[in-house]
Amino acid sequence: MKYIVVTGGVMSGLGKGITMASIGRILKNRGYEIVPIKIDPYINIDAGTMNPFQHGEVYVLGDGAEVDLDLGNYERFMDVELGREHNITTGLVYSAVIERERKGEYLGQTVQIIPHVTNEIKARIRSVVEKSDADMCLIEVGGTVGDIESMPFLEAVRQMHGEENENDFLFVHVTLVPFTTLGEPKTKPTQHSVKALLELGLHPDIIVCRSKKALKEDAKKKIAMFCNVRQEAVISAQDTDDIYEVPLMLEQEGTATYIMKKLQLEQLKEDNDWTKMVERRRALSAGNKSIIVAIVGKYAELEDSYLSIKEAIKHAATEIGCKVELKWIEAEDLEVGGALNTFFDEVHGILVPGGFGVRGAEGKIKAIEYARTNNIPFLGLCFGFQLAVIEVARDVAKLKDANSSELGETPHPVIALLEEQKGVKNKGGTMRLGNYEVFIRGDTLAEKIYGKKKVLERHRHRYEVNPEYIERIEHERVFFSGTDRSGLRMEILEISEHPFFIATQFHPEFMSRPNKPSPPFIAFLKACVREYEH
Ligand code: GLN
Repeated sequence: MKYIVVTGGVMSGLGKGITMASIGRILKNRGYEIVPIKIDPYINIDAGTMNPFQHGEVYVLGDGAEVDLDLGNYERFMDVELGREHNITTGLVYSAVIERERKGEYLGQTVQIIPHVTNEIKARIRSVVEKSDADMCLIEVGGTVGDIESMPFLEAVRQMHGEENENDFLFVHVTLVPFTTLGEPKTKPTQHSVKALLELGLHPDIIVCRSKKALKEDAKKKIAMFCNVRQEAVISAQDTDDIYEVPLMLEQEGTATYIMKKLQLEQLKEDNDWTKMVERRRALSAGNKSIIVAIVGKYAELEDSYLSIKEAIKHAATEIGCKVELKWIEAEDLEVGGALNTFFDEVHGILVPGGFGVRGAEGKIKAIEYARTNNIPFLGLCFGFQLAVIEVARDVAKLKDANSSELGETPHPVIALLEEQKGVKNKGGTMRLGNYEVFIRGDTLAEKIYGKKKVLERHRHRYEVNPEYIERIEHERVFFSGTDRSGLRMEILEISEHPFFIATQFHPEFMSRPNKPSPPFIAFLKACVREYEH
């Protein structure tokens, strides 16, 4: 097994996750199977209860694990399916160690960070590797070198380096190279962060320099000299508008060639699907068709909280060859009264994403009503599906006070908790999470979109359509076209005699890949293009 460990220096938010995902991609293009692992040094057990304001979206894996959004980038870039064991947090590691201590399994020893915690970390990494049939394991250590929290993890990979073969281990350090107002690149922050790494016994083989502009050879030479790496191993990774360009940029800098040489690997094949996809994207940004999609959300100002939706839109747009401009609308702004035309006049489609809680919910319902009554293509996802059910219950089925029991007292809880979920106090893991089959009714828009009767999609919700209300909500034009296997749990709502109105209880955005866009997103954008053309 070959290991590549990616660490970060200077500050967070440098795109370490994208860097690692891109390294994975360029190695995959050469025929290697990759297994990625994300280490999150925070004490939380998982990302499920974390505020999207601080952390960006919570990404959901097939097995239902709620993880950091970097795992979404790995899945999209490397086209892999990951599970909960691919995300290791301090919370997980410590709770396992403490549990073992309570069971007396340490036989009276003093339980310490070294070796007990570091052993637990190494065992977790190796168990993921053993279960996979990958050729290479890529490990991203979250946080910045020097953080207290990441110390045990850096110590664990340091030990692993000594335990594995010399040619099987490689360290990549991602740093920042700022430019002065005079346009001079400064290498000192990089020097300092490499020094911090050296103090921990880790020596980088490759330094990826994040910067505004491309680094020239003299700056690379300086970094190589001060940081004791080869000049060809100093990689310039300047800012780009399109993250999907990053693998090509790293490739051009010779990153893959250097890694292959260091790890003594041969190229097994040449896969250029990614390059072709990026070329389609470039052609698109020069193209002319440009539609506007409104996203009505709660954290609209913080676009990272809807990252997978943004990416799924990009994938579908690349596929159908149109440019998409996103118009972020803060749901609460729709609640103050006044005409909604000012918000939606120029948009060709409205998307209401997932969400939690009462703030902004009525604004989202207004947006749905606007889409429905003005014949604007609409896609509702999860909370967006539930609110669409509420909207049609109120307006079409005339259940005036219909609501979700998540949002307050109501005589008509059309969205409610299932019996089995009531009274659960633990905040983690009470949702219906991960991959579930969805069964699609024949002769519906949903069937046309997917082209099949059974699909697998990811879920993350606590509330459900209340079965007691289905009969009153459904009629000829408004109906549920997808359910779970039992037929009791509603999964898709659609309206016929509308240009496009689809809402899903599941999150199709999590299954979308750059070269395999999600069918509902493709269909939605196609409907937006028709709206644009007409
Ligand atoms: N708040 C809703 C629920 O818990 C929807 C969740 C979501 O949109 N992810 O069911």
